This record gives sequence, structure tokens and C-alpha cells, in this order.
Amino acid sequence: MIKSLLRALLNIILYPFKLIFRFIIGFLKRLKFSIALKISASYLAIYVIIIMIVAAATSVGYLVYEFDKFNSEVIINDAEEIAETFPKFSQNIVSRVKSFEIYDDNLNEVYPLNSGKGYADSIIVVIEKLIYDREYIYSTNFYNDNVEYYLNISYDAQEMINNSVRISIMVMISGAIGLLIFLPIVSGISYKMIGPIKKMTDTTKTITVNNINTRLDIKGAQDELKELSQTFNEMMDRIEAGYKTQQQFVSDASHELRTPIAVIKGYVNMLDRWGKNDRAVLEESITAIKNETDNMQDLIEKLLFIARSDKGTLLYTKEDFKICSILNEIEKETKMIDTKHELYFKFYEDASLYADKKRIKQVLRILVDNAIKFTPPGGYIMVSGFIQDDYYVIKVEDTGIGIEKKDLEKIFERLYRAEQSRSKEIGGHGLGLSIAKIIVLGHKGKIKVKSSVGKGSEFSVMLPYL
Ligand code: ADP
Repeated sequence: MIKSLLRALLNIILYPFKLIFRFIIGFLKRLKFSIALKISASYLAIYVIIIMIVAAATSVGYLVYEFDKFNSEVIINDAEEIAETFPKFSQNIVSRVKSFEIYDDNLNEVYPLNSGKGYADSIIVVIEKLIYDREYIYSTNFYNDNVEYYLNISYDAQEMINNSVRISIMVMISGAIGLLIFLPIVSGISYKMIGPIKKMTDTTKTITVNNINTRLDIKGAQDELKELSQTFNEMMDRIEAGYKTQQQFVSDASHELRTPIAVIKGYVNMLDRWGKNDRAVLEESITAIKNETDNMQDLIEKLLFIARSDKGTLLYTKEDFKICSILNEIEKETKMIDTKHELYFKFYEDASLYADKKRIKQVLRILVDNAIKFTPPGGYIMVSGFIQDDYYVIKVEDTGIGIEKKDLEKIFERLYRAEQSRSKEIGGHGLGLSIAKIIVLGHKGKIKVKSSVGKGSEFSVMLPYL
């Protein structure tokens, strides 16, 4: 009973200390993390410095004003009286001033002969005397019997100094009262200014792939913060678009792989049921499975190429070579594999390239194979090479089915195939041109297309040459 009473009493006594402790911890935490508090603290520090400067300036100004008034109202008269009555002085003046000394023109003391004080001839001496001895010294000169004398008159300045200190204390008290009003206003304004940042942080923390379309609220934010939110939102737009493209790509690629697997599965089932003893079914199945696995391997290799490019691990083995060496190879190979079209090859100029020979050849193969694929038998296909400005241009023209305008900008996208080419007979995965584009851009080149439906297409690859 007594123990718990004592504990309660102790708690009551310690409560204010606990509160103070909690306040200090909270304050330190805020000081570390809150920009608003830092801004408020900076403003307050500036305010305190200004108040101190004002207090010091006011008291110095007061002293200067008082001494100036004292000079003109009292000291000049006293100095005149001393000069006129020199070397004898009235009791009146002796009692009015704290002390006075007179020096001849060699600054030897002539009155009171043994004061030991030197002639106070500079403002520094006057200020020193004022600060350390609370004494105000006035210096002047006068003539007596045509001899020049120098005079120092000292007055007790304690009263004036006390007044000036009182004035500066008053200014500081007013400043402190102002601070009490200023403090909540400044911290309120700072917190209001910084408020949107907290909101932005909270929103940003909640963004994951599941709500990747979340954006920061840009209404009502301050100007710079609005800009920051806008930039953040734009960045999120790009990330979201990239993420969606990636998702689409994965889904399309899976789709592409599903067809050959389904075909293979179909043939395997057929073999399982009747094919073991039926030679015709066996052969048909083996051919189909071979075709489909080739198809799958081709697709997977293309997908891997694109994935490597995305990851930035795609390496080019660059070397110096003559472009016509590749063009001639392409000519020879094409003439061998394609006998259904009228083929023309015209290389007007040769040039040296510093590039990955195998990859550049891959680009040309993609373009020539497409021209063959999309041109009906009997059509023309022309491959030409020439120099134009800083580039070596390779043009692949055909008189094939052409590409619709709406498809033109999409054909370089991954797995995209224009509608009229999506038939099984034509084949292809819609990856050739994206790979060609990756390679050409990887060589600081350009790839362009012109086409009109039913008339034909013209692909140009422009590569910088040496
Ligand atoms: P694919 O493997 O399907 O040929 P590409 O990326 O090489 O994939 O081409 C994408 C699409 O661009 C093709 O499916 C086709 O619709 C169109 N295309 C490409 N080259 C030609 C061409 N020479 N003539 C007509 N259409 C073409």
C-alpha cells in the first residue's frame, strides 16, 4: 500500500521531467528529419541576430546622440571657462567635471602636473576609457598668451551607459515578445510549405507493381514542388509504359511458344496412337516436329537476343571491313535460295565500316528475307548500296504487298506483324525488324521504311563509314 503510494507520488513528481524529456527527444528527432523545422530554425536564428544588431545599434546610437548633445550643451561651455580662467579655475568647474588635464604644445602636462594620464588624442582611447573606466573624455585645444594648450575634460558616463544598456535590454525584450508571435507563424508557414512533400512521400511509399498507375496529386502544391511532382509523374508514366510493354512482350512470347508446342504435342499424340507402325505418319510427324523445333529454336534465340539488348549485355565484335564483302555474300546467297523473284543487286560504291560484320549481315538477311517473304512470285527485289553524306546506305526494295500506313510505325515493335502477314504460310514471329533496329542503332546508324500497299516497300539502312 505504502509502496504503491510512494510510486504514485514519485510518478507525479517525475511527470514534468518526463514531459520535458519526451519533448526534447521529439524535438531532436524533428530537427534531424524535418526540413520545416530546419527552415524555421534558420529564420529564427536570423531574427535573433537581427534583434541583437538592432539592440546594439540602438544603444550605440543613443550614446552617440547623448554625447553629441552633452558636447554642445555642457562641455563646450566648460572648456571655454577652463580656457578663460587658465591657470586658475573656479571651484564650480572643478566640482562639476570628474577631472581635467591640460598639456602644452609638446603634450607635457601642465595641469595638474602629476595626473599620470596621457593626452587622449584618438577615438580608440576615448572608447577604451568609456568601456573600462565609464568615463567620457572630451579633447580640445585653446590659446593663452598665444601659446597653444591641449585640454582633456573627463565626465562620469556611468549614468549614460546604464541608460544605453537599459535601452538595448528593452529592445531585446520587445524582440523576445516579437519572437513569441513570430515563432508559431514561421513554423506554421514552414509546415504548410513542406506539407506537400510529406504527402508525396506517403503516396510514393504505396506505389508497387500492383498500383503502378498511382500518381502524385499536383493540385495545390507549391511551384517547385509541383514541378517535382510533375517530373515524378512523368517518370512513372515512362516506367509504367516500359513495364506494360515488358508484360505484353512476355505474354506475346509465351503465346508464340504455345503454338509450336501444341503442334509438337499433337504429332507426338498421333505417333503414340497410330504412328509407330505407319511409316507415312511417322515421317510426316518427324518432319513437322523438326520444323517446329527449328522454329522454336529460332524464336528463342531471337528472344534471347532482345533480352540481352534490354539487359545491356549485348556485345558487338567490331572490326574494319569493306561493306561490299557482305553485300556480295548476300547477293550470292539470295540468288541461291530465291529463284521465284527477279533479283537485282547494284552496289555503286564500296566503303570501310567499323562494325560487327556478322550482325550487319544479319540485318541485311532480315530485310532481304522479308522482301522475299512479302513479294509474290515474279516480283522485283532490288538491293543497292551507295554513299550518302556521312552514311553508307543499303536499300532493299521490293514490289510486294506493301505495308499499311497504320502499321508502318509498329513494324519495328517486338512481335508485331501486320494483319495481312499473319498467315501461317508467310511465317515469322515479328521479331526480325526489332532485331535489325537494335543492331543498326547499336552501330549509331538509322533504319527507315517507305511503303505503299500493293506496290511495295523500301527499307534503308544507313551506317556510318570510316
Ligand atoms: P517477321 O518475322 O514477321 O517478318 P519482322 O519484324 O521482320 O517480322 O516484320 C514485321 C512485320 O512487318 C511483318 O510481319 C510484316 O507485316 C511487315 N513487313 C516487314 N517487311 C515487309 C516487306 N518487305 N513488305 C511488307 N511487309 C513487311
